[in-house]
Amino acid sequence: MTEQHQQDTIVLEARGVTKHFPVRRTGRDVVARSRRSVHAVDDVWLQLRRGTVTALVGESGSGKSTVARLLAQLYPLTKGEIQLDGTAVKAGRGRSFRRYVRQVQLIFQDPFASLNPVHTVRYHLTRALKIHGRAGTGDAELETNLAALLERVQLTPPQRFLDKFPHELSGGQRQRVAIARALGADPKVLLADEPVSMLDVSIRLGVLNLLKDLKDRLHLAILYITHDIASARYFADTTLVMYAGRIVEGGDSETVTQHPAHPYTQLLIASAPDPDRVVGEPQREEAQEETGSGEPPSLIAPPGGCRFHPRCPKAMERCSTELPPRFDLADGQWAACWLYENAKDNGNEKEAVSR
Ligand code: SF4
Repeated sequence: MTEQHQQDTIVLEARGVTKHFPVRRTGRDVVARSRRSVHAVDDVWLQLRRGTVTALVGESGSGKSTVARLLAQLYPLTKGEIQLDGTAVKAGRGRSFRRYVRQVQLIFQDPFASLNPVHTVRYHLTRALKIHGRAGTGDAELETNLAALLERVQLTPPQRFLDKFPHELSGGQRQRVAIARALGADPKVLLADEPVSMLDVSIRLGVLNLLKDLKDRLHLAILYITHDIASARYFADTTLVMYAGRIVEGGDSETVTQHPAHPYTQLLIASAPDPDRVVGEPQREEAQEETGSGEPPSLIAPPGGCRFHPRCPKAMERCSTELPPRFDLADGQWAACWLYENAKDNGNEKEAVSR
């Protein structure tokens, strides 16, 4: 299989995935379920391809971590479907579900909380190998497999790390152990939920480079959840932008980060530190002046129409009542924004075609 063919292969797909959490009212003696719910994720469509990184970017509370947990089958879906290798996955205990949880592994944000402090690295990795039937047939083979896992995450020599406890490791080393544990299942997909946000700035790049190396060598499909759109440009092949439970823009990372179409993405870019930004650069200054203000909306009663309309500097009358569909732009970029409905007719450079 050629490298291009591998990158065209869709491994994991979310089709209209929706998650609403019921709001519970607690009384002194009773817990009553109200009719209201938190619209955490609505109608999310995404595809993870073999040997590529897809970034899901958004501010806190946008629903991006919930998407990762839904893909990891930690929550049941309210609506929609998840497909692995083109086959719909049903939550439960069957063989196909066990295969799914082995092949789709989640890496959490906080490596200290995700490792048990009373157990060594050897315990964590041995357990993962045994659960997934990859420990080998004897002690010697187990030692070889443990060493291979640590070498794969560049913790060498392995003997130096195997008998250490989590508190004896740095944050970056702990996250590498968490990644090694996920690799113990021999997965096809890694869901990395803000994998570097709790690490010192100086070691973030090393962990991102490790994930990039694993993507290239093991042809993993990686979902990279982040609030840092600048890191998405560096690390991801494709970038999706999420706002208030919906994905509002997508495309290849270079295009989305350098030529954002959706006003929310423009706001994110304008507020991100950019070492390449030239002071006084007119386009950037204009974008910063135009950026909307205010807070993300409540997801218990999200705004009608476009959920960004209360903050959007370009909002029109219809934006508060009509939900914009996805409009395809040039070069695979798309945006869910009414600005692009007639872009092709009125000569907008981001030539748009409604789907
Ligand atoms: Fe702004 Fe309207 Fe576009 Fe929403 S649809 S981003 S409110 S212009």
